Amino acid sequence: MKITNSEQLFFEAQKVIPGGVNSPVRAFKQVGGTPVFMKTAKGAYLVDADNNKYIDYINSWGPMILGHGHPKVIEAVKEQADKAVSFGAPTLQETDMAKLIISMVPGLDMIRFVNSGTEACMSALRLARGYTNRSKFIKFEGHYHGHGDAFLKKAGSGVATLNIKVNAGIPNAVTDDTLVASFNDFEEIEQLVNQNKSELAAIIVEPVAGNMGCVLPKPGYLQHLRSLCDRVGSVLIFDEVMTGFRLARGGAQEIYYIQADLVTFGKIIGGGLPVGAFGGKREIMNKIAPLGDVYQAGTLSGNPLAMIAGFTTLSILKENPGIYKELEKKTAYLEKGLKEVLSKKGLLHGINRLGSMISVHFCKAEVTDFKSATAGNNDTFKKFFHGMLENGVYLPPSPFESWFLSDSLTYNDLDHTIKAAGSANF
Ligand SMILES: *Cc1c(COP(=O)(O)O)cnc(C)c1O
Repeated sequence: MKITNSEQLFFEAQKVIPGGVNSPVRAFKQVGGTPVFMKTAKGAYLVDADNNKYIDYINSWGPMILGHGHPKVIEAVKEQADKAVSFGAPTLQETDMAKLIISMVPGLDMIRFVNSGTEACMSALRLARGYTNRSKFIKFEGHYHGHGDAFLKKAGSGVATLNIKVNAGIPNAVTDDTLVASFNDFEEIEQLVNQNKSELAAIIVEPVAGNMGCVLPKPGYLQHLRSLCDRVGSVLIFDEVMTGFRLARGGAQEIYYIQADLVTFGKIIGGGLPVGAFGGKREIMNKIAPLGDVYQAGTLSGNPLAMIAGFTTLSILKENPGIYKELEKKTAYLEKGLKEVLSKKGLLHGINRLGSMISVHFCKAEVTDFKSATAGNNDTFKKFFHGMLENGVYLPPSPFESWFLSDSLTYNDLDHTIKAAGSANF
C-alpha cells in the first residue's frame, strides 16, 4: 500500500520531535491512526499534505472564530510585519488592545498580556496567592488550566486523553496546596472551602468546561462559587481562555451575570497568534510588578504581531455582535441534525452545547462532570472520529475536547457534516 504524505511526514517528525507533535492531543493517541499534517487553511476549510480538504471543527482549538485567513486579520499582520515584528519596549498597540478588551468584558479594570493560556493561568494563580497571602487553591476535576505544575492534578484535555494519572516531574510539594473538587457538586465544594477557609487563596474554574467535552455549569453553580469566595475572602478566577470571546463578547461572565475577581484569556484574543492575558480588579492587579511584588514578565509579551492579530479579530467581533447569534443558530442546527442521524443509527449518545461549543458523548447518562465524561464509549468515538475524517470532517481527536464552530461555516458545510455522521460506518 502506498503511504500517504501525512504518514511520511509523521514518520520524519517522530525522529526529531517527541511523539512527532508539539502538543500531545495532536498525536491521535486516543483515536489511533496517523495525525493529518496540514498545509493550508482558508475560511472553514483545511487542506492537508495529501491535498484532502476538511471542514474544520477544531479551528486551532478555538482561536479561529472568524474562520481561517480572515482578510482583515491577514492584512493587519502583514502591515505590522513591515513596520516591526518585535521591540521588547512598550507600544501603542498594547494599550489599544487592553482598552478594547476592557470595553468588551465586564468587570475588568486592568489587564496584562502574556504568550499563552498556560502563562495566563500560572500568573493569575501567583497573583491570587500574593494578594491574599494564602497558598491553597481549589480546581475542578477534568478542568484544564494549561500545563503549569500546580494545575496538573486530575486535569482535563491531553492529560485526560492520555489517561495520565500521576504527572511525572512535579514534586508533591508543588501540588500539596492544589485541592480538587468535582464540577457541579454544590456540597463538596462548600465543605472544601469551609475546611480550608483561612488558607484558601483562590478557586479557579472553567465557567463552562471545555476540556472534558463541553460541560455546562448547573444553574446557580457559578453563583455558589462567587458566594463561597466572598464568604472566605478568596479570589474567584474564571479561566476564560476557551470561553472568552467564544460564548459572547464578554465570555461566560456576560452570559451568567457573574463577575470573577480575575479572568484569564488566550486562544481567540490572539486571533491565531500566541497570546494570553489575565486581568481583573485594579486593587488586585496593582500587586503585579513593577507596581507590586508579585513578579511576572515576558520577553515577547505584548508582541506587536500578536497584538494586531488579536486586536483586529476582537474589533470585528465587537462591531458585529450578530456573529454570536449566527454561530448559536448554526451550532443548534448542527446539534439537531446530529441528534437525528445518531438516533436513527440507534446509537446511545448525548450532545452538550452552549453557543458555538459542542461535544458528542457516546454514553447513557448526561455528562455534567469528569466522572460522567469518562463514561463514554471510546470504541464508538474512535470509529465516529475516523468515519467523519474520511468524509472530510475534522473533529478533535478526543472525546475530552469541545468542538468549535467558526463564522465561515455555511449551512452546506453543516449539512455535509450531518450527512457524514449519518453515513459513516460506526
Ligand atoms: C487551552 C486552555 C488553556 C491553556 O492555554 P495554552 O495557550 O494552550 O497554554 C488554559 N485554560 C483553558 C480553559 C484552555 O482551554
